[in-house]
Amino acid sequence: MTDSPSRTPRTSSRDWSEASFDPEPHRKDLVAIVKEIEALDLVDAPALDAVLRRHPRGGKGFFSRAQIIAGFRAFEGTEGFKTSEKEFITRVRRRPVRSQSGVTPLTVLTKPFPCPGKCVYCPNDLRMPKSYLSDEPGAQRAANNKFDPYLQTWNRLAAFRATGHSTEKIELIVLGGTWSFYPESYQVWFSKRCLDAMNDFGGDVDAREEAEVSAANFDNFDDDALEGVRDGPKYNQAVVGFLREQGRGGEVDAESATWDALRATQLRNEGAVCRNVGFSIETRPDYVTEEEVLRVRRLGCTKVQLGIQSLSDPVLDAIKRGHAVEDTRRAIGLLRRAGFKIHAHWMPNLLGSNPKDDCLDYDRMFGDPAFRPDELKIYPCSLIETAELMNSYQDGSWRPYEHDELLDVLAHAIAATPRYCRLTRVIRDISSDDIVVGNKLTNFRELAERELTRRGGKTEEIRTREIRDIEFDPARLEVRATSYESGVGGEVFIELVTPDDHIVGFLRLALPTQKSFCDEISSSALIREVHVYGGALNLGARDFGNAQHRGFGTQLVDEARKHARAAGYHELAVISAVGTRGYYRKLGFRDGDLYQHTTLTL
Ligand code: SF4
Repeated sequence: MTDSPSRTPRTSSRDWSEASFDPEPHRKDLVAIVKEIEALDLVDAPALDAVLRRHPRGGKGFFSRAQIIAGFRAFEGTEGFKTSEKEFITRVRRRPVRSQSGVTPLTVLTKPFPCPGKCVYCPNDLRMPKSYLSDEPGAQRAANNKFDPYLQTWNRLAAFRATGHSTEKIELIVLGGTWSFYPESYQVWFSKRCLDAMNDFGGDVDAREEAEVSAANFDNFDDDALEGVRDGPKYNQAVVGFLREQGRGGEVDAESATWDALRATQLRNEGAVCRNVGFSIETRPDYVTEEEVLRVRRLGCTKVQLGIQSLSDPVLDAIKRGHAVEDTRRAIGLLRRAGFKIHAHWMPNLLGSNPKDDCLDYDRMFGDPAFRPDELKIYPCSLIETAELMNSYQDGSWRPYEHDELLDVLAHAIAATPRYCRLTRVIRDISSDDIVVGNKLTNFRELAERELTRRGGKTEEIRTREIRDIEFDPARLEVRATSYESGVGGEVFIELVTPDDHIVGFLRLALPTQKSFCDEISSSALIREVHVYGGALNLGARDFGNAQHRGFGTQLVDEARKHARAAGYHELAVISAVGTRGYYRKLGFRDGDLYQHTTLTL
């Protein structure tokens, strides 16, 4: 796909229109805007708005931040700006949080496809992969790009660059239905095409036109087919019918790739400008088998998002989840034993539960060593028009929690989350228009944290302790190790923290006592994650004033070596992403088949 680059602009996505903006016709206004922003003492939203209003864009509205940054880049050498590009971007960037966890997350969605689940709360939006809604921002971006992995990735990278975000260390997050249920050839192709886009984007190659030609067209979904689809089997039937019409019912040539081709693309990405430093997919516990774990590892995955939803069998039955708690126990054990990071999804207010049982369920998640996820999304159940749960609401067997009930459950959950877990989300960010009944407040996490403080409790989970842009003294950092049991042995969570307990970096070390089903790591200790915070910095850049590139990663790996050696291990392996292999080689790790390894000497 990269042999015949094309530079024909597309207009169907906002990402692209931002990336293709030509600053030259607006030189006078953009230069004035840049100089006024440089002169501001405090660059907050009102101050920025005032500058933009003084210089409207040719009578057709206002310049976006991306366009201002594009203007800065275009005229930097000729207009005598006072700030460096990095300083200027820091001033105007809207969402510095995006890349403050050290890497830039890039989310893509798989195409609409049947899901083996029949979960009663799950939306059935035929224009989307199962469980997503067509007016969620990420879902809209995917639809604008016809769910094509190359177009989604390339255009998102272009938008990141246009808005001043780093594009060199990318965590790829693949969302949509049940990944393990898509045909293997589609999975290989999808993974390869995301990496192709990273390789091309970093190499200034643009093959979007070619991708556009071969992408499926999901715009033609017959709106009549959307009526009355309120359960999973109907969704599956309608989607299968549509894909068949499109000639994409199964393993179509346009959406398949060989393992060898993927391997070659992965090797190219190792040295690419835009590297893949993390890769996650989402699936169901009953689809996690030994073969599946090894297969997703071969795709390059490092993290699995696992819908566990509840740890109560009666609740799982009530919601027609289609698997038992025992499946969750087994899935987490397999993933952990293979070194994956485990990002669980859990749902309070499910059919068959109540606030008290939800709190007990949450306590079980961290009390029982078999679970203990590394990251967690808490999605209180809301009622979506197209979900089968509508029937239970209408017959009175389910109701959404009152505000105070939900507040209680979430405050309890936040307080009960241990320091080794990151609460990624506490509410699902869906439009209130989509919610028939249920919580519509998107700031509920903030309310629950405030309630917890009012009760005298405190949070220890990772997200609230991340260093972000807080200044710190490297000489005063402490290494803190938290040991806990997992379902397959011991775990050590090693952190670098400031005296007031902000995290600068952490490492997850597994010390398994059970033999692995994967021979390559059968007797190794395993580094499951190394994460150093600070704005995502471009690889090789020199001007580092934050937590990355100060050797904290190396320090954490050295600590892991000590712990593994002390626990009697002779081998230490790491589950590296394609784009971090070079980093671990420099630290003395040698390449294996699916992992990298180092021998622990005395
Ligand atoms: S497994 Fe259940 S919740 Fe997940 S996408 Fe399928 S039907 Fe929806």
